[in-house]
Amino acid sequence: MAKYEFVEHNYDVVVVGAGGSGLRATLGMAEQGLRTACVTKLFPTRSHTVAAQGGIAASLGNMGPDEWHWHMYDTVKGSDWLGDVDAMEYLAREAPEAIYELEHYGVPFSRTEKGQIYQRPFGGHTTEYGEGPPVQRTCAAADRTGHAILHTLYGRSLKEKAEFFIEYLALDLIMSEDGICQGLLAWRLEDGSLHLFNAKMTVLATGGYGRAYFSATSAHACTGDGGGMAARAGIPLQDMEFVQFHPTGVYGAGVLITEGARGEGGYLTNSEGERFMERYAPTYKDLASRDVVSRCMTIEIREGRGVGPNADHIHLHLNHLPPEVLSERLPGISESARIFAGVDVTREPIPVLPTVHYNMGGIPSNYWGEVLRPTPDDPDAIQPGLMTIGEAGCASVHGANRLGSNSLTDLVVFGRAAAIRAGQIIEPDAPPMPLNSRSVDSAVERFDRIRHMSGDVPTAELRLIMQKIMQEYAAVFRSRDSLAEGMKKMTEAAKMEADLSVTDRSMIWNSDLMETIELTNLLANSLTTIASAEARRETRGAHAHEDYPDRDDENWRVHSLAWLDGTQVEMSYRPVHTETLTPFNVGGVDTRLIKPKARVY
Ligand SMILES: Cc1cc2nc3c(=O)[nH]c(=O)nc-3n(C[C@H](O)[C@H](O)[C@H](O)COP(=O)(O)OP(=O)(O)OC[C@H]3O[C@@H](n4cnc5c(N)ncnc54)[C@H](O)[C@@H]3O)c2cc1C
Repeated sequence: MAKYEFVEHNYDVVVVGAGGSGLRATLGMAEQGLRTACVTKLFPTRSHTVAAQGGIAASLGNMGPDEWHWHMYDTVKGSDWLGDVDAMEYLAREAPEAIYELEHYGVPFSRTEKGQIYQRPFGGHTTEYGEGPPVQRTCAAADRTGHAILHTLYGRSLKEKAEFFIEYLALDLIMSEDGICQGLLAWRLEDGSLHLFNAKMTVLATGGYGRAYFSATSAHACTGDGGGMAARAGIPLQDMEFVQFHPTGVYGAGVLITEGARGEGGYLTNSEGERFMERYAPTYKDLASRDVVSRCMTIEIREGRGVGPNADHIHLHLNHLPPEVLSERLPGISESARIFAGVDVTREPIPVLPTVHYNMGGIPSNYWGEVLRPTPDDPDAIQPGLMTIGEAGCASVHGANRLGSNSLTDLVVFGRAAAIRAGQIIEPDAPPMPLNSRSVDSAVERFDRIRHMSGDVPTAELRLIMQKIMQEYAAVFRSRDSLAEGMKKMTEAAKMEADLSVTDRSMIWNSDLMETIELTNLLANSLTTIASAEARRETRGAHAHEDYPDRDDENWRVHSLAWLDGTQVEMSYRPVHTETLTPFNVGGVDTRLIKPKARVY
């Protein structure tokens, strides 16, 4: 092995990731006086959060009656009763406070006539526990909400003197002999140096793994590095079978057209010009939740009612909306439609197709962001020294299907919660523990091994094989046969990892090596996704199983845990938290249980 030298750093907290969740946590930790480092492979404001268009949900009630209990109920129903109800209560209850904080930090939200924060309707957000009309709950800064939040949080974090390590790729966690996370090893892309971060708390805020698929709305950097690192440290990945397809990716390009477009009055049609969602979801129509709309679109196409020369996509109409609504509320998507589909939204419909958008699954945590390493005796056992937040984690507030605009809420609510919790459990004055040299050695050996890989398979080739398998077999609709076939193919693909070739051996800005490391992380996420999907014999949320078309609460209202060992995946399960944190009142009855029922929109 080549000889490496290290730069060592000591912090109270090291946050990996500078998206919305990582920045909110970094800011919160620094505000509490914890010495905080934020390590990020991208410049902070290039993180995928910058692309979030539609907005962030909170029951402010600026546009009509709303309350957090309704938001909680919608989230529970949206999750198809798989989310942890305590975490979902925390999300909905704390959301307004988290939004006002953002407002005070300086996020330039759009405004109503009265000067309050503007809110728009989004799919699955309703009133009266799903019995009332749709609600305007999604707070927006035009259609650039993530952009506004990310820039504001980065500025505030700098003001609080958080320290940033930008364009550093985190490689692996360092674990003590007795299983405590002690920090991580990172590679500085700019000058090729290796860095050891020793911290009392490590926070994985590395975002999703959309790039495991061929067509995704997510950025090329969304490679599930946190999941890969956690899996290598022996932590299971939870609920990985639940992958959200957004109904409206631009056909061909995959670029997102926000659900806010339907929130502002847009609607879908098939080749007969029919507004088909009226048939499937009579009440909420085009604003039913995402899994439902994506499935309906897929059925229309399968039954021969797709549009275009190959009858393989659907039309989204905005051309009936007043031009001032388009220019004020949806300027960014008007531009995307022009650039990526060559369409003038004031005149023509946009060609769209369900496209991979969000990963409900991830590293398991409780609602404080503390990572769980479940044991047979304790399904909620905590992994000391490690937290996870944002799309990398699974708290689990989105269960089997995330509601639109609930992810940005998740980022700031749980970023903030993790900081509060870290403030309670970290002793800033305690001396740092020396890093476990065996764990450091094995992380460095892995890096060195990948750097010198000299097999026959170029990284780009294996990545494409993986993306095609995921696209075909872990799709909107799944079946016993398709999943068994997918599992076989993905295991073969994962085995090809040993045969990868890295042509550039340098340490400085070696994008070949970086992409190979990211690919190994994507493979870990892909394999656990397809294994979890194959094992789950029911239909729930985003997991639509043709051989098991019904939800089976008796046997399957459980979180999947996928334990990765090489190219083998072991499955186990942990119970869903079914009780709210506080009693709440429906129809005059105090209850902590929100009982599952049929999910109709
Ligand atoms: C196009 C699009 C539009 C969306 N619109 C909305 C919306 O309107 N409302 C909503 O609620 N949700 C929306 N979502 C979902 C939401 O934006 C994402 O789930 C969320 O932004 C993820 O934030 P994050 O902090 O978890 O990660 P990200 O923003 O993806 O950031 C990940 C961070 O981790 C860092 N990182 C990753 N790996 C490493 C590593 N190995 N070493 C060092 N650093 C690393 C990266 O540098 C980056 O800073 C949208 C998603 C997309 C793709």
